[in-house]
Amino acid sequence: MIRPVQLIERKRNGEELGAADLEQLVLGYARGDVPDYQMAAFCMAVYFKGLSPAETAALTDAMVRSGRTLDLQTEVGRTVVDKHSTGGVGDKTSIAVGPVVAACGVPFGKMSGRGLGHTGGTLDKLEAIPGFRTELGPDELVNQVREVGLAIVSQTDDLVPADKRLYALRDMTATIENVSMIAASIMSKKIAAGAGAIVLDVKVGDGAFMKTLHDAAELAQAMVELGRAAGRRVVCLLTDMEQPLGQAVGNALEVREAVATLRGEGPPDFTELVLAASGHLLALSDLAVDPGEGRRLAERALVDGSALARYERWIEAQGGDPHERALATAPVVHEVASEHEGFVARVSAIRVGLSALDLGAGRRTKEDTVDHAVGIVCLRKRGDRVRPGEALAEVHARDRASATTAAAEVLAAYELAESPPVPRRVVLEVLE
Ligand code: URA
Repeated sequence: MIRPVQLIERKRNGEELGAADLEQLVLGYARGDVPDYQMAAFCMAVYFKGLSPAETAALTDAMVRSGRTLDLQTEVGRTVVDKHSTGGVGDKTSIAVGPVVAACGVPFGKMSGRGLGHTGGTLDKLEAIPGFRTELGPDELVNQVREVGLAIVSQTDDLVPADKRLYALRDMTATIENVSMIAASIMSKKIAAGAGAIVLDVKVGDGAFMKTLHDAAELAQAMVELGRAAGRRVVCLLTDMEQPLGQAVGNALEVREAVATLRGEGPPDFTELVLAASGHLLALSDLAVDPGEGRRLAERALVDGSALARYERWIEAQGGDPHERALATAPVVHEVASEHEGFVARVSAIRVGLSALDLGAGRRTKEDTVDHAVGIVCLRKRGDRVRPGEALAEVHARDRASATTAAAEVLAAYELAESPPVPRRVVLEVLE
């Protein structure tokens, strides 16, 4: 067996490593045979020297094989579709997209994670629904996808255990920001979770992991290649995260907005993303439609009530109460009024996300608990005209003191201008 120190040295010197070497290293690390200090040195070497596409594919494959894998395709007997976002502020897209595609007759099965920092996680949002169970075993997941057409569950511990260790190590050694390692980390979990077709949503902007379209496109390309190499059908959307998605930021508030969208009453940017992602998912499925037809089917599911009905069935199947009145509300609602007249030129996603985090809507460390009721509603978005005294946003808080602090932060997130800004679409690019 090759010694880890030799692989570290070869990568440090810029050499390309073989698939068998990477497999030994990754599986050895997952078993605990390779110590953290050597894996940390290896990650730093990769950070500086990079990985070739072949090395990235080998790393991903080894990570997938470090744990249990599901084959939803075979288990369900259909192409099961999945969606993944790199994380943003107000991103509740899966909660609306799942019911839309299921209502169109396409099974949707997703394993999801919790949020950390200023971006929320789908599981935290779903746990704002009283009674909702996220911890379904693999058999329950398969049965629910078969019977209800839709399940979103928490990632099990035995899914890609190598990533669990490696991601935590990268976090502690300043080696997260390498496109190959990010792509391998995300795609290994998607591949192991077993869907046959995946729509990826790489967010771009100040509230996202990827700040520029250039970096986002590089990550998107790497992830699409890894998915296809593993035999999955993959499309990647590059979408705007310069401002929060939709209006609501915060767990129960976002569930309400997803439900309103399923009723056809959602904010325009969020509705647009739901329709675009659903259209592409339907086009990747076994329905044999193109993305345009897929989008029309998705629109019909919003209009005829079938998407909303599917949402209710899904939530009940996972033990939750689908009625909006069951969702928690915050005791204090504080309006943030505009001090000036003008057009909203910018609503900084990162600032709104951090204010929501301060209110308790997210977690700073994995151990923190989340307050499901609190958050921010951005009533005005980029391009809207406002007059002095008109409401820009609402802060939903646990108490008056935190509401006042957040209101000042939210006000600072808004920039007004005399003329309207150049319009920016929510879907910036599609990588097919
Ligand atoms: N999300 C992941 O799952 N992995 C990374 O490396 C970065 C973001």
